[in-house]
Amino acid sequence: MKRIQYKRILLKISGEVLTGEGDYGIDPEVIRQIAQEVKEVKNLGVEVAIVIGGGNIFRGMAASAKGMDRASADYMGMLATVMNGLALQDALEKIDVDTRVQTAIEMREIAEPYIRRRAIRHLEKGRVVIFAGGTGNPYFTTDTTASLRAMEIGAEVILKGTKVDGIYNADPLLSKRAQKYDELTYLDVLKKQLKVMDATAISLCIDYHIPIIVFNLKKRGNIKRIILGERVGTKVKG
Ligand code: UDP
Repeated sequence: MKRIQYKRILLKISGEVLTGEGDYGIDPEVIRQIAQEVKEVKNLGVEVAIVIGGGNIFRGMAASAKGMDRASADYMGMLATVMNGLALQDALEKIDVDTRVQTAIEMREIAEPYIRRRAIRHLEKGRVVIFAGGTGNPYFTTDTTASLRAMEIGAEVILKGTKVDGIYNADPLLSKRAQKYDELTYLDVLKKQLKVMDATAISLCIDYHIPIIVFNLKKRGNIKRIILGERVGTKVKG
């Protein structure tokens, strides 16, 4: 019998994973699959918190590069994460997984406001908690949100779900010769300027020693494999 390696995890889901074949919007089938994976892991007795991105709908930086005020664009990006969060909550609840969405910007008619102790209580009761709205501040990313929330709720690991199998020395979607790293240190990521997570997100993990596992969320069973201690993706640690 394989042993469960982590009791409480923070799963970061990038917006780009939610798009299916296209590069925009939400593919209901993809969301359904992710919900199923989360359910399997939760059924192992693992507490699951999720930080959801919004890049599949809106990216503040891209809009500001085209002339929009950066802060306004970032607020739109944060709203995009709320849409994704509600879609994931819906998919989870359809398969009987109790789920709460908490937003960093208050919108009480739609979701709970972010309250750390309340989030922890939900996890203890076996509910999945989705953190939407990023940090609530412009100029940040949902990767930084993932590091921040992971620390706040005492998650043992950050699982960053992407479209590729881990961290490579070049973009694997563009170069056939790109090689995957099995393990890296936080400093490697910063020095080599690997586009895994932004520097703010990594620095938080350095300070508080939270390992990050970057993996392919589109491969069935990957989250469960990681929980059971299999080597999947790339592990970043101190
Ligand atoms: N965003 C923000 N502050 C945050 C988190 C996100 O302003 O704390 C905005 C930012 O504009 C970002 C967008 O929300 O481009 C979507 O988040 P992100 O790009 O991190 O999503 P992902 O790449 O994971 O899909």
